[in-house]
Amino acid sequence: MNQGREKKTFLSKTRFFSGIRCPRLLWAKCNSPELLPPLDAASKFQMEEGKAVGKLAQRLFPGGIEVESGKDPERHHRESVEALQSGRPVFEAGFVFEQLYSVADIIVPCRGQYDLYEVKCVSNIRDEHLIDVSFQKYLYERAGIPVRKVFLVYLDNQYVRNGRLEPEKLFKLLDVTEAAAGLREVVEGWIRKLVPIMHLSEMPEVAIGEHCLGDPACPFKQGCWSFLPERDSVFVFSRGQKKALSLIEQGIYHVRDVPENFQLTTNQFIQKQCHCNCIPYIDKSSIRSFLKRLAEPIYYLDFETFNPAIPVYDNTRPFQQVPFQYSLQIIGSGERVQRGFIAQGDTDPRREILVRLKRLLGREGSIVAYNASFEKRTVRQALEAYPEFEADFSGFEARVIDLYEPFRKFHYYHPDQQGSGSMKYVLPALTGQSYQGMEIASGSQASREYYLTCLNPEVDETEKKRVLAALETYCHLDTRGMVDIVEVLRKQVG
Ligand code: SF4
Repeated sequence: MNQGREKKTFLSKTRFFSGIRCPRLLWAKCNSPELLPPLDAASKFQMEEGKAVGKLAQRLFPGGIEVESGKDPERHHRESVEALQSGRPVFEAGFVFEQLYSVADIIVPCRGQYDLYEVKCVSNIRDEHLIDVSFQKYLYERAGIPVRKVFLVYLDNQYVRNGRLEPEKLFKLLDVTEAAAGLREVVEGWIRKLVPIMHLSEMPEVAIGEHCLGDPACPFKQGCWSFLPERDSVFVFSRGQKKALSLIEQGIYHVRDVPENFQLTTNQFIQKQCHCNCIPYIDKSSIRSFLKRLAEPIYYLDFETFNPAIPVYDNTRPFQQVPFQYSLQIIGSGERVQRGFIAQGDTDPRREILVRLKRLLGREGSIVAYNASFEKRTVRQALEAYPEFEADFSGFEARVIDLYEPFRKFHYYHPDQQGSGSMKYVLPALTGQSYQGMEIASGSQASREYYLTCLNPEVDETEKKRVLAALETYCHLDTRGMVDIVEVLRKQVG
């Protein structure tokens, strides 16, 4: 009878980082992956973009050969060692040492040793990237693959595309050999801690903390945090993450239970009063001053943008926000007019947007946006690419008024905002309108859907039309919502 060999559990690089974040997460990934929710669309998109950047970086090493990964780690190791014998650069080689397993983006043989190139889809190097290469260097050397040099390969956000992509200019190389070697003890320490966790018979208990937050939040957050009330939890406090965690340690979960003598900032105190008494806070005098600044005609403006890692159009840089859509509500002389535009995706939309906005915005009146620094930056960057419009937009920034301001400064706070000043919370709290149930319900989703649909020639027209319609509905809600928020504020201050 075939007893079957027990499947070996490996500490891969992904698991290693999960374990550094939280032992519960590592244990679940190794023992009960079915407990993890499926990857959301944003994470999938990020992964696909990372893969595309990795492929492009391979062009820096002509003649390289790729080892197929995603198999049994030990087989991957054998095939990778074989590939290294070729003396050519090897892509996606995977190596095993005891219970450790990692895949090298690019490894290049060099006089009996090897240079390691780790590709990152970022324009700024962070500490975790150094730990990443240190983990790899340690593992490969223990596996008998001497590493001579270690490089991080990342995107140069000063590179401006001009025609064909030039990988040798798009990517920057940073020699981190010393840093990777210097972190060896730290990495060894983590490995010693994490390997036994993989083999625990049950998921370990871990208190919630800052490690659950961040971007992306831990996939188990919903479960581990379910003891907190859905509304009015201590996490509503503005800039109060540390305070919330210390309250939780004391067994205080709800705002109403926060003791009188617990130190709160002025804004946090306002929040406490609002949540305990279920009433909004209104600083009428500051709101009046804000509203007085609005000069007719008032233009409520919102852009949707996308920011691909690999520049799509000429005159754009990696991760540069490129507008593809705007919505505009124009209020003047008691009339309200709606205008909008969505680019079809075949050419750089910025010129067309500048042409249209130049005509629509004229020279007078306030331009209202929510979190307006984004709209200002978007126009500024578009003008860098099309300087012939500079004179037309010379007064643009001075006319812009940020509707986020009264909420950021706590001139208005409604308990339904649940601690957030974002439009996604402010609009429902003040007007009852909601983004829930919309086909496209956030800026990041708008950006992703546009990129995946309108910039992909393989997507059929019906699908394209569906996405364009959903984008139109979403962007118009943002600008109509701003008009309605201002209306509510006006009514409240009389
Ligand atoms: S939510 Fe927090 S405690 Fe729970 S698994 Fe994630 S990181 Fe760990």
